[in-house]
Amino acid sequence: MSIPTAKSDRFDVRAVVAAVQRAVGTPNGTLALHEPVFAGNELAYLDECIKSTFVSSVGKFVDRFEDMLAEYTGAKRAIAVVNGTAALHTCFRLAGVEPGNEVISPALTFIATTNAIAYCGATPHFIDSSLKTLGMDAQALGTRLDAIAQRKPEGTINRETGRRIAAIVPMHTFGHPVDMDEISAIARQWEIPLVEDAAESLGSTYKGRAVGSRAQFAALSFNGNKIVTTGGGGAILTNDEELGRRAKHITTTAKLPHKWAFVHDEIGFNYRLPNLNAALGCAQLEQLDGFLKNKRRLADAYDRAFANIPGVQFAREPEGTSSNYWLNAILLDEAHASLRDEALTELNAAGFGARPAWTLMHRLPMFSESPRGDLSVSESIERRLINLPSSASIQARDD
Ligand SMILES: *Cc1c(COP(=O)(O)O)cnc(C)c1O
Repeated sequence: MSIPTAKSDRFDVRAVVAAVQRAVGTPNGTLALHEPVFAGNELAYLDECIKSTFVSSVGKFVDRFEDMLAEYTGAKRAIAVVNGTAALHTCFRLAGVEPGNEVISPALTFIATTNAIAYCGATPHFIDSSLKTLGMDAQALGTRLDAIAQRKPEGTINRETGRRIAAIVPMHTFGHPVDMDEISAIARQWEIPLVEDAAESLGSTYKGRAVGSRAQFAALSFNGNKIVTTGGGGAILTNDEELGRRAKHITTTAKLPHKWAFVHDEIGFNYRLPNLNAALGCAQLEQLDGFLKNKRRLADAYDRAFANIPGVQFAREPEGTSSNYWLNAILLDEAHASLRDEALTELNAAGFGARPAWTLMHRLPMFSESPRGDLSVSESIERRLINLPSSASIQARDD
C-alpha cells in the first residue's frame, strides 16, 4: 500500500480533463462554453410576428414577454429593454446615480456592470468577492463602508474621495446568488439604493424566492450566451409601480402617450426591445424550467466527477440558494494556480470550450484608478477559476 499524500499534492491537469470527460462524454467537435437551445415555439412566434408586421418597438410579444417575466420572477413589473447593459444603466439612473458619484461594485464581474456605472458619469468602487458565493462579500462591504463612509444630509459620502456613494450593485456570479439578506441590511443601514445585477441568474432562487423578486431594481440579460436569449435583450425588474412606470418611460424615448403628437418630456433613451426579439424571448421562457432541470443535472455530473480529484473544487450553489448553474466553474487550489493556463489549453485541445474568469475590473485601464477595498479573494479567484461547458443542451452522463 502506498502512503497517501496530501490531497492537493497529487494534482494533475490530465485528471481535470478526464473528469470533464466523465461528466459530459467525449465531444464530437467542440463543446461550446454556452450556446442557446431553440426547441420550442421560436419559429412559430417569429413567423407570427413577421406576418403581423409589428417587428419593431411595439407589439404584443413585448407585452407578453414582460408579463411572463413578472409572473416567473414574482416581481411587480418587468420592463423589456434592448440589452442587459441598458437595463443596468436605467436602474442606476432611476436609483439616482449622478455624475461624480460612486457605485460599489464587485471587481469580479463582466464589464457591463462597470460600464453602466461609467455611463452615468459615476466611478465604480470595487469590493472583494466571497469564496462561498463568488459574488460581493457582505462582510467586506460592511468593513469597507465602516472604514470610509459617513452619513451626511446629502447622503452617504466616501470620506476619502468626498464623493456620494449612490448605489451598491451585487452581481449573482454564474447564477449563484449572493448573500442578499446581509447585503440588503448593510445597504439599508447606510441608506444606499441596491441595484441587483441579475443578468446571469434568471431562474436562481434565494431562500426560496426568485432572484430579483424583492428588488427595487434588478437587471436581467438575454444575450445569446445567457440561460434564455432574445438574440440581444434585457429587462428591468422592480417592485415599485412608480419606478416601473418611470423605467418604461425613459427607455421608450420619454414620449407622452398621444394619438399622433410627438411630445417628449425629458431626455429619454431608445432602449426598446423589438417585438421580434420579444417573440423569441416568449418561446424561450416557456422552456426555462426544462433548461434549469438539464443544467442542474449537468452541474451534479460535474460535482460527482470532480469529487475525488485532488487539488480542485467544483463551485456548488451557496447554502440556502438554488443556482441556475448558468456557467459551471471549478477552482484549482492556490498551490496549482500556475497550472490554470495549462488546464485551459488541455481542456480546449480535448474539445471542451473552457474559459478563465473575467479580468478583474480594476486591472482594466479605464478603471485602474477607481477606489477599492482589499481584493485579495477576487484576485485569488481570478488566478484559479475555470468555467466549463454549460449549455442546457449538454447531456450529462449519469454515473
Ligand atoms: C451578460 C451580463 C450583463 C449584460 O450584458 P448585455 O450583453 O448587455 O446583455 C451584465 N452583467 C453581467 C454580469 C453579465 O454577465
